[in-house]
Amino acid sequence: MSVLEIAKGMGITLSKLFQKPVTISYPEQPAQLKPRFRGRHVLTRHTGTGLEKCIGCSLCAAACPAYAIYVEAAENDPRDPVSPGERYAKVYEINMLRCIFCGMCEEACPTGAVVLGNEFEMADYRYGDFVYGKQDMLVGTQGSKPQRREAKKYKKAVKMGFQVTVRPELEGVKYLASREVSS
Ligand code: SF4
Ligand code: SF4
Repeated sequence: MSVLEIAKGMGITLSKLFQKPVTISYPEQPAQLKPRFRGRHVLTRHTGTGLEKCIGCSLCAAACPAYAIYVEAAENDPRDPVSPGERYAKVYEINMLRCIFCGMCEEACPTGAVVLGNEFEMADYRYGDFVYGKQDMLVGTQGSKPQRREAKKYKKAVKMGFQVTVRPELEGVKYLASREVSS
């Protein structure tokens, strides 16, 4: 290796010393996610009525390559419907340990009910806590189970290490925004 090549290499190293670092001190500094990032699922509602978009058809479960989704449908009570369809999802669960965040469920859903949001801080200890139910995914629920558990324990607001970006497809956010969703 010639002296010229060494000088050239050192020159590149020196030039990088004065550039702004691309790394951040996460989680102290919130992470900026790309617009198409796929994180924890959100179950959306219809704007205005607040009815759940999910009609319990199980197409998302059928499309899921990881068999991560479990849906149990029930008939809607016409006097107090949960969704605009004949049926709604009485049970809707996603096992986040199985999920590979591929987005196939989102693609398969005929009503746009299930959408992958941008929450990714879902580390937890017990297997059962990785199975997210409706109460963990309905629009307006912010923060993962452990984050909400911690916030409840210390009576503080949920702290997330990333910026929640507004997604137009997550309609009806205002409907539940003021409601407390327990973990
Ligand atoms: S993102 Fe993919 S793996 Fe995860 S629940 Fe949806 S279809 Fe299944
Ligand atoms: S999320 Fe969509 S595909 Fe899945 S059960 Fe509900 S309506 Fe059907």
